Amino acid sequence: MVITAHPDDAEFGPAATCARWIDEGSVGWLVCCTSGDAGGEDPDLDPLELAATREREQRAAAEIVGYAGVTFLHQPDGALANDLALREHLVREIRTFRPDIVLATDPDTLFYGNDGVNHTDHRAAGLAAVDAVYPAARNPMAFPWLARSGLAAHSVKRLYLFWSNAPTARVDVSATLDRKIAALRAHASQLKEPEKVDAWVRESAAERGATIGTTYAEAFRVVIIDEDQDEAPSDD
Ligand SMILES: [Zn+2]
Repeated sequence: MVITAHPDDAEFGPAATCARWIDEGSVGWLVCCTSGDAGGEDPDLDPLELAATREREQRAAAEIVGYAGVTFLHQPDGALANDLALREHLVREIRTFRPDIVLATDPDTLFYGNDGVNHTDHRAAGLAAVDAVYPAARNPMAFPWLARSGLAAHSVKRLYLFWSNAPTARVDVSATLDRKIAALRAHASQLKEPEKVDAWVRESAAERGATIGTTYAEAFRVVIIDEDQDEAPSDD
């Protein structure tokens, strides 16, 4: 499960990794907290119309990557808050789709190195995802009405945090980078220079790939919450 703030975050982020895992048999689901209704430069643009456009673009991109579906939580773009209401929304999604892994923006990233500020919604969505995964989703006493209505507690095993200043893992995405580029192109309303997308994505993925000896890679800070049972040492 990928949890993002805006339509297009999943494509600028971990799309090639998700495409690879889906190709290998995983089921992917995307949860988008806002519909990107403030993601334009024209103050006269109707935010509802923009949100509809961006949801359409996100669904098209998600289809290219291969997600089984997308949930939009319709939170306000630019004003996303890691509050209890958002946490409940995310716990509901996690307990419904029961993912082993949640991918989200690294909430520790306030600046991208010394090159820019990380959007407040990205930080809020990342923190909300972490707080929903642990402890809320696994604790049957958190939002007890969810468990009583059939959404049993669920333990996510790992977090894969993208846009991190402290990545600990790289995923070989040489086979699926083209899908990431195609999915990014679906976000036509957000691409000021669409002709540059291809080169830009290849360049950054090649830099990461060089560190592990592959053509292309994506980078993550991986947080292990539960060891996989089959990897854990056994008593017998
Ligand atoms: Zn964003």
